[in-house]
Amino acid sequence: MYEKGFMFWKNLFYTPDTKTMEDVIILGTGCAGLTAAIYTGRAQLNPLVLEGTQPGGQLTTTSEVENFPGFPEGIDGFTMMDNLRKQAARFGARYEHAKIDRIEVDGEVKRLHAGEKVYEARTVIIGTGARPRLLGIPGEQEMFGGKGVTTCATCDGAFYRDMDVVVVGGGDSACEEALFLTRFCSKVTLVHRRDTLRASQIMAERAIAHEKIEMAWNTLPQEVMADEKGFARALRVKDAQSGEEREIPCKGAFIAIGHIPNTDFADGLLKRDGDGYIVPEAGSQVKTAVPGLFAAGDCVDHVYRQAITAAGMGCQAAIEAERFLAEL
Ligand code: NAP
Repeated sequence: MYEKGFMFWKNLFYTPDTKTMEDVIILGTGCAGLTAAIYTGRAQLNPLVLEGTQPGGQLTTTSEVENFPGFPEGIDGFTMMDNLRKQAARFGARYEHAKIDRIEVDGEVKRLHAGEKVYEARTVIIGTGARPRLLGIPGEQEMFGGKGVTTCATCDGAFYRDMDVVVVGGGDSACEEALFLTRFCSKVTLVHRRDTLRASQIMAERAIAHEKIEMAWNTLPQEVMADEKGFARALRVKDAQSGEEREIPCKGAFIAIGHIPNTDFADGLLKRDGDGYIVPEAGSQVKTAVPGLFAAGDCVDHVYRQAITAAGMGCQAAIEAERFLAEL
């Protein structure tokens, strides 16, 4: 009864913190979002860019980007994202911190809810990227972030100087993490569930050939084991063929087994595939079924997932948004 009365008065007098209507709101500051910001900024659309929980996206945790065209010597991920951010700001992009929980479409208006705060826009470019996948084994959560389990060698590798560590995964990320860790660690065991790596040939060859990296093929992680102080001391693993179990001693376990797209806020609004990736409309890479709502980068692309492809999609989404606004 009391609650009903409260809601009545709240609904009558409460007006959410609503912003003015924007032409373009961009969600995310990874390669897709910031490229979209550069393009819409140059098109004089005055984009508002909302940064979520990881400003700069996944590249900020990458040591060296060697394959982005235009950098013959490579560039570190953090610097690259900082440059993109400054480049977009130069054309008028504005930045705010906000984590969008829900998007509501009301005719031509897209209403973006971030807790009590509401943003409104005619077009929205979703570039929310993806977050690291975890194994879901005992000990992983308990020791995550500071006690030996991590998903970022660039961020945490230096803490494991002269120690033995494991990297779990068989893709480019796992190889990259393992190679990076050889700078600090005495030994890196690369734990992969199959007998061939998924990584590109060049990365796989580098990892396999490295004297500090030992390959643990057909090996399934079972548990991160703790010492008496609650810090990681070993990874318990099972041989995929024989079923035999053993412990790999390690002070650090770096998990690099792929990513989960950050698209929960689109639940019920946009079509997503079984892994959560936004499914674009047929014939387009970036248009969604909702007019004026575009998606770019790792939240929609489960095939290429490269910095350059995310940037390309950000560009496409920006051009589509510009055309959409022109037609309005
Ligand atoms: P990925 O290519 O999807 O590889 C994930 C790896 O983790 C696979 O080897 C997979 O094993 C393994 N895995 C997945 N779930 C597992 C589980 N539950 N238990 C044990 N192992 C599991 O992901 P990624 O390495 O993050 O790469 C993502 C994309 O980014 C790729 O397109 C990659 O080329 C790109 N990338 C490029 C660079 C570069 O060019 N410098 C660097 C990093 C990433 P299976 O092989 O058996 O499936």
